[in-house]
Order: sequence, then structure tokens, then C-alpha cells
Amino acid sequence: MARAEGTDLGRRSLLMGRVAEAGRSRAVRPPWATEASVSAGCTSCGACMEACPEAILLADPDGQPFVDFSETACTFCGACAVACEADVFAPAGPDGTRPQSEAFAHVVTLSNACLMTSGVECRLCADHCDARALRFDYAIRPAGGIRLEAEACTGCGACIAPCPTSAIEVRFQHVPARAGQPDTLKHEARA
Ligand code: SF4
Ligand code: SF4
Ligand code: SF4
Repeated sequence: MARAEGTDLGRRSLLMGRVAEAGRSRAVRPPWATEASVSAGCTSCGACMEACPEAILLADPDGQPFVDFSETACTFCGACAVACEADVFAPAGPDGTRPQSEAFAHVVTLSNACLMTSGVECRLCADHCDARALRFDYAIRPAGGIRLEAEACTGCGACIAPCPTSAIEVRFQHVPARAGQPDTLKHEARA
């Protein structure tokens, strides 16, 4: 997908692999990795970035990987995790795979920039969502709209690049606090 001139702030942030979260920005780290695990274990060797067949893993200023969803999505192939010799990625299960549902600490959100909110026909994001987390819903007034089922979102990012108005953004989500502990980001507790 061609990058338009006059790229807006949200899209520029995305290109840097950073999204707003609680008033600060943070990088989208590779699947099955967390900010903490990258910070503690990554040696900046670059193996995960070289292994990614989608070329969505780029190096931040410290040489550590972040995900760039501005062109395409994560397929959950696991090549990045297999390539990493450091303790950065969650270990594979007994069958050698890692579940998609545990890959990312984010889902996506849909803003009012969505063309459907102003009555312009567009279903590009829903067409790209294999998980069917984004669906056209006739019940949304006045002429239908896109409904997000956040529970079904894997965070793959496939809906982000096709959106002509950059209406879809990454949102990190919190898991409920355990008794006596502060809120923690999904999967962050693993690291
Ligand atoms: S799981 Fe595959 S597509 Fe996704 S970031 Fe890792 S190597 Fe790339
Ligand atoms: S392969 Fe592992 S250690 Fe190397 S850059 Fe990627 S996350 Fe860091
Ligand atoms: S990030 Fe992936 S699973 Fe989530 S809404 Fe977008 S395309 Fe669907």
C-alpha cells in the first residue's frame, strides 16, 4: 500500500512502532514478547528481524525489535521467536507452537475517522480481518457501520494498513489486577 503524502500524526507514530498508551508512547514489540522481556533479554542481534517473512520487525534506536503495521500484518508464523536465542519470547507449547491469543498485548480501536461514520461506504478493514473481529453491522445507524468485537481481535494488524483514513489504531489493554497488585498489561506479567 502506497504511503500518502501529508501523513498524519497517528500514522507517523505507527511507522515508528509507537502508539499512545496512558499519556505516553510505547513500542509494539514482537508477538510473544513484551516491553519487559525485550528490555531485559534482547541483545539487539537482529535475528528476529531477519527471520520475519513479512518484514514487519524493525530496529528501534537501541537495535531492539518493534512491529511496524503500516504496510502489512503479522501472520503468527513464529519465525521471530524461533530465531531468537535470548530469553525474549514466550516458550512454545509441547506441540512447538505459540497461541495467537497470547501473542500481543494489544487489540485495535476504531475512531470516528472511519468513513462509515459519515455514511461513506467502506468495509476494507472488515474484509481483511480473518478473525472476524471487525464486521459490518446494519444495526448501526443511520446506514450501518463497522463493529469491533475486541474479544476476538488477535492484534495481527491486518486491518490497519488498508484503512484509507487511518481510523484504526493499536490500543494496549489491561488485564484485571490480582488481589493486592496493580493493574498489569496483558502478558506483561510473564516477563
Ligand atoms: S510471527 Fe512471523 S510474521 Fe509475525 S512478527 Fe514473527 S516472524 Fe514476523
Ligand atoms: S532475535 Fe532476540 S535477541 Fe536478537 S534482536 Fe530479536 S529479540 Fe533481540
Ligand atoms: S488487528 Fe487483526 S484480528 Fe484485530 S481487528 Fe484488525 S484484522 Fe481483525
